[in-house]
Amino acid sequence: MTDNTISSAVIIGAGIFGVSTGVQLARRGIRVTILNDGPPANGASGRSLSWLNSARMRSEPYHHLRMAGIDRYRTLAARFPDADWLRFDGGLTWDADDARNEIDAAFRYEVSLAYDAQWLPAAAVAGVTSGIDARAITRQGAIFNPGEGWVDLPTLIGLLLKEFSALGGVLVTEQGAARVLVEGGRAVGAETAKGGRFLANAVVLATGPAVPRMAAENGQTIGDGTPVALLVQTRPLAHPLRAVLNTPRVAVRPAPGGSFSLDADWAADEGVRLRADGGYHIDEAVVDALLTEAAKVMEGNPKLEVASIGVGGKPIPGDGEPVVGALKAIPGYYVAFSHSGATLGLIVGELLAHEIATGAEHPMLATFRPERFASR
Ligand SMILES: Cc1cc2nc3c(=O)[nH]c(=O)nc-3n(C[C@H](O)[C@H](O)[C@H](O)COP(=O)(O)OP(=O)(O)OC[C@H]3O[C@@H](n4cnc5c(N)ncnc54)[C@H](O)[C@@H]3O)c2cc1C
Repeated sequence: MTDNTISSAVIIGAGIFGVSTGVQLARRGIRVTILNDGPPANGASGRSLSWLNSARMRSEPYHHLRMAGIDRYRTLAARFPDADWLRFDGGLTWDADDARNEIDAAFRYEVSLAYDAQWLPAAAVAGVTSGIDARAITRQGAIFNPGEGWVDLPTLIGLLLKEFSALGGVLVTEQGAARVLVEGGRAVGAETAKGGRFLANAVVLATGPAVPRMAAENGQTIGDGTPVALLVQTRPLAHPLRAVLNTPRVAVRPAPGGSFSLDADWAADEGVRLRADGGYHIDEAVVDALLTEAAKVMEGNPKLEVASIGVGGKPIPGDGEPVVGALKAIPGYYVAFSHSGATLGLIVGELLAHEIATGAEHPMLATFRPERFASR
């Protein structure tokens, strides 16, 4: 059954939010065009750690949205039980052995939410998950969250785009950057750098780190806390690590084909510099240091080699919470901008499409409305 009051939508951005929203709208019988300034998944979604989780502390609505996000991935995983791009092999976390160690508090909080968590001393970790050098775990112990997982977003985006085009959706990637067209106070479509105009009843801005700047071009404020992030992909190696590791100096997650994805905030802060031409300079010594940190937490301390490096903005709203829904000052204009967009990728697309198609607000997005920034 289609319940839409609109018949067409144009989406700017073929990252996980844009594509997930696009396929959901197409499933509802809406004609959708997605515009991207290059190949799909060439933004944050192509260089994401993509740990599927609701670990540690945040607002309750955000926790619930993340849990719904994980639920949708579980359904997908049941459809693809042998997928090497979507795994639920758990997550393991520990903190540094200093005054900031929060493992005790994080564990108690997770238990209070019934978020599946086990607090283990280093010696017990091998009993729940493989491939970790227990010597790296600090004396406060680690939390194992068996319900966590990871996804390879480029593979997921490819899968969703296949369904999208089978449903008649159109992906345009050859026309450069696009902008939202606002006429008579309403969003009426989008225009590409090459002058292509795509008119529609609804326009979705899903350009990842570029959302606040692009919304500002239309006079709208969205708080922005986006930092530059670095993701290092290793060459494949045979190694038993299966869980996603979040450790004081490095995060490590398995990836398709036996490689590993690594990231750390300090590595981005110390190792990436913006060049005058707008590109990034990457300090090789910092990348080497990140590989060393990863080897230290992996059983056997393997020699890790770089296969590729991704650099660019990690979308983070100014107050840390997702920004999803209609920009009420401009009818027809919708945005999706969030950190943890891997975890939220499927559910945000589903709920945003629900709002666009039905015109009704979904209660789970109530605290994530973009207009909260308007009065600040
Ligand atoms: C290093 C790193 C680690 C992360 N770790 C996690 C994690 O562990 N768990 C988790 O849940 N999330 C994580 N995230 C966050 C998650 O990856 C992002 O929130 C998510 O990928 C954002 O998707 P998006 O669709 O909003 O943006 P993007 O993937 O950036 O997609 C936006 C697209 O729009 C295109 N575009 C931009 N401007 C224009 C324009 N004017 N015209 C046309 N196209 C345009 C871009 O090229 C891009 O393809 C991480 C991100 C990074 C970078």
